[in-house]
Amino acid sequence: MHKEIDFLPEITGSFAQPAAENPTVAMVEAAYRHHGLHFRYINCEVSPANLKAAVDGAKAMGWAGFNCSIPHKVAVIKYLDGLGESAQLIGAVNTVAKRGDKWMGENTDGKGFVQALKEVIDPSGKKITLFGAGGAARAVAVELALAGASAITVVNRGEERGNEVVSLLNKNTGAKAAYHAWDKKYIIEPATDIVINATSIGLFPNIHQQPDIDFNSIKTGMVVADGIPNPLQTHLLKTAAAKGCKTVNGLQMLVNQGLLGIKYWTGIDADASVMHKALKEALHID
Ligand code: NDP
Repeated sequence: MHKEIDFLPEITGSFAQPAAENPTVAMVEAAYRHHGLHFRYINCEVSPANLKAAVDGAKAMGWAGFNCSIPHKVAVIKYLDGLGESAQLIGAVNTVAKRGDKWMGENTDGKGFVQALKEVIDPSGKKITLFGAGGAARAVAVELALAGASAITVVNRGEERGNEVVSLLNKNTGAKAAYHAWDKKYIIEPATDIVINATSIGLFPNIHQQPDIDFNSIKTGMVVADGIPNPLQTHLLKTAAAKGCKTVNGLQMLVNQGLLGIKYWTGIDADASVMHKALKEALHID
């Protein structure tokens, strides 16, 4: 009997520079294998000068889609046919997927975070203190606002970047946003429901760095989240957990991003636990 054979997988992948430290390939390929999907995910080192050629190459080879990471998240937009709502607001794309014959840009940085947060607390109607105003913070802030957060205080060292995020939110969403300078130990307002670190402070290998926050101002009822995926328990999360706060770590955000990418490319809801395990193994996290 003729057995059906197919040596042509659907291709997905990532364009970034540097690319070697990006663990996404480990969790996405683990999910493809687990679900028996005839898909591959290829991690590619692409310089800014080669981004257009890489995107043209993906189109020419009929890729199903790809991720873009640093430094391509903004530059890739000009090679795409359209953007999802939050990618448009954020002004950056980290996931590209084909819709019919159109290449659409999405941003899953904030979506993955908000999904992880929603397992602990619904941000709708909540007051949020957000540390940071870089790419991740901007994505998280936009998704929180789109999810109905009532007030977002952006605390950032650089005033210009902080105010940019605040005016983006106030102009385009229903959330009331305000900037707060971060030039001394920050005291968190007692009315805050959710505290989020979206800075890179404490990221491996600088695991002993901690955001300049008055830890006494973190109260038991607050939910505390950290975007940093490695280490799993940052100093901020350990302090919050010791006070009895519910916490959300950055690894959950990363797994959710992978889940969203796989959904865009393959249409399936992958098993998060398989991806979580693969990611922890890849990053040597216990
Ligand atoms: P950016 O470089 O765009 O932004 C960095 C942010 O951190 C800025 O707000 C910057 O402030 C602040 N910052 C850095 N160092 C200091 C410091 N010493 N004191 C005060 N503020 C500081 O980075 P990203 O937004 O892309 O990434 C931020 C973090 O989010 C990283 O740790 C990254 O790992 C994490 N991330 C996690 C993801 C996940 O899926 N878990 C996805 C994407 C990112 P300033 O504006 O003043 O320079």
